[in-house]
Amino acid sequence: MKASERRLVELRAAIPEVTPAQALALQAEGAVLIDVREPDEVAQGSPPGAERLVRGFLELRVEDAVPDKAARVCVMCAGGVRSLFAAEGLKQLGYTHVSSVAGGFNRWKNEGLPVEVPRVLDAHMRERYGRHLLMPEVGEAGQLKLGASKVLLLGAGGLGSPAALYLAAAGVGTLGIVDHDRVDRSNLQRQILHSDDRVGTPKVESARRTLLALNPAIEVRAIEARVDSSNVEDLFKGYDLVVDGSDNFPTRYLVNDACVRLGLPNVHGSIYRFEGQVSVFWPSYPARRGPCYRCLFPAPPPPELAPSCAEAGVLGVLPGVIGTLEAIETIKLLLGIGDPLVGRLLHYDALQQRFTELALAPDPDCAYCGDGKPFPGYVDYEVFCSTAGATVR
Ligand SMILES: [Zn+2]
Repeated sequence: MKASERRLVELRAAIPEVTPAQALALQAEGAVLIDVREPDEVAQGSPPGAERLVRGFLELRVEDAVPDKAARVCVMCAGGVRSLFAAEGLKQLGYTHVSSVAGGFNRWKNEGLPVEVPRVLDAHMRERYGRHLLMPEVGEAGQLKLGASKVLLLGAGGLGSPAALYLAAAGVGTLGIVDHDRVDRSNLQRQILHSDDRVGTPKVESARRTLLALNPAIEVRAIEARVDSSNVEDLFKGYDLVVDGSDNFPTRYLVNDACVRLGLPNVHGSIYRFEGQVSVFWPSYPARRGPCYRCLFPAPPPPELAPSCAEAGVLGVLPGVIGTLEAIETIKLLLGIGDPLVGRLLHYDALQQRFTELALAPDPDCAYCGDGKPFPGYVDYEVFCSTAGATVR
């Protein structure tokens, strides 16, 4: 007898076995059914409600999935052999009520017991997102969540470029990009979605090509439009979150007002010369009440006080920092991890190389997000920062 065969005999003697029908009945009584098969096997079907913990990572991950060591646990593989080894591993971790499903999933299926085809990442996605899958804060469930997410980006310019690139790379399944402009050579100092051979091309089309070259598995909606009071709500509907990479006050207020009205998180970034700032305006954030943009700035400044676009200028790398921070906030919000910049504003000074945080309080009397206020309507403010080539965004 080979050593492996001897080991199997020992395990059969040590690990209690249950039939698939018994495992199903135990599951209904609260037992945890763990499917330890490989992802490509699970993708063909798995018992509904089973914990899917691949054998190779079982010991590392089981304590998060089943914290109670006294819980009744049934381990299942394809034929009932790997599950014996897996059950033995669980016993060594201190689980006291472990059994193995005799005949495994093959017998489960042959006996006509319930099967579901779970949403899983395919082999290409596992390879692409491998570094995400290694982190329990993302993992397969988080990656699937990103894949099902829909993010709308306002502007395919300086801020929108890094934000869109990183969101596409991270596997955010649907990216809508709104911009009415065309690529100008003076954009290329900072707008890294575009390239010299795209000068004259609509920015959203250039963005779509760049993003799909990076990650062909996502959907990119190129929306060549100027946002105004007549279309803002239609443009925003159906998205989970809006990333504001706009360069002008009229758009910024429309983004704020539509996000407040639709309950969407508004990931805000802005830049000026060597400085930038990031925040998340989301008054309906469940964990704490934060302000909207109008709580801080109830109305735009008069045109003569706004910085002149031609004079403003910006360090080309700066939107790279701020737009990337917007991408990070976006991914945190989509995954529901960490502490978002709700009620906080992060200011960045590139010359001093310094980040400063400011606490932002909501205004209870805010006309847009104040309690019980009727929605005052959208406003089309005068566009005083023109969209000519000198525009900084
Ligand atoms: Zn407000």
